[in-house]
Amino acid sequence: GERVLDVDLRLFNEERQVLVMSYDMTQVRQLEKMQQDFVSNVSHELKTPVTSLIGFTETLLDGAKDDPETTTEFLRIMEKDAKRLQALIQDIIQLSKGQQDLDYPIQDVTIAELLKQILESYEAQIHSKNLNITLTGDSALTWSTKVELFYPIVKNLIENAIKYSPEKKKITITYHAADTLTLCVTDQGVGIDLDDQQRIFERFYRVDKARARQSGGTGLGLAIVKESVEKLNGKVQLESHPGVGSTFTVILPKL
Ligand code: ADP
Repeated sequence: GERVLDVDLRLFNEERQVLVMSYDMTQVRQLEKMQQDFVSNVSHELKTPVTSLIGFTETLLDGAKDDPETTTEFLRIMEKDAKRLQALIQDIIQLSKGQQDLDYPIQDVTIAELLKQILESYEAQIHSKNLNITLTGDSALTWSTKVELFYPIVKNLIENAIKYSPEKKKITITYHAADTLTLCVTDQGVGIDLDDQQRIFERFYRVDKARARQSGGTGLGLAIVKESVEKLNGKVQLESHPGVGSTFTVILPKL
């Protein structure tokens, strides 16, 4: 009787090892697949503006430059391509920084000041869309955090609220802190339907690709938000209704 039991146990253990191994391989493959997808997406996103830049440069050199109006029109397009490249490169650097797990210093940030600084950099868009922006929170509130991760979170949420709001809408930014910091960005923009809400935090996922590119988006903003929030041990929540608007809420614990 004892021998049979031994054999059975060994078989069981072997099976278990096989199970554990195949589970690990699935994870490795998934990670590899994600990295391959990312690289191929990046290549595609980089190639598009570069191809356009080369095309317009060649056309200008071939003689189009002799017409001042055409030259201006082409240079405007080329400026847009170059800015898109710049935004992509900045976002890719930010993502790779977040992954490197660098020992960023923890600093005291005055939330109101950081928000004002970000809003100033979008003043042109806010003004041209005639958006009404409200800040609600203690103007003296400070929070100890890794600014290199915290800043991009807030910047990307505000940038999206501005980008996806029609003219004359209201954007509300509220924050408060106790044991955790809660920061909400609410817009009255286009909103996001339930199916897309699951996916918009993925790298390069965009609800409306053509429209998002037109607005200068890289498709990496919310991936940066999610990955940076996770590095800070926090979470990001989304409540959105198509045609009504969206609220992104970031909750961060003390570091
Ligand atoms: P993008 O550079 O395209 O804005 P993001 O990663 O920041 O990339 O966002 C992914 C997608 O999520 C956007 O393309 C857009 O479809 C949707 N989205 C993000 N923020 C908002 C918002 N505030 N309102 C409506 N849609 C949004």
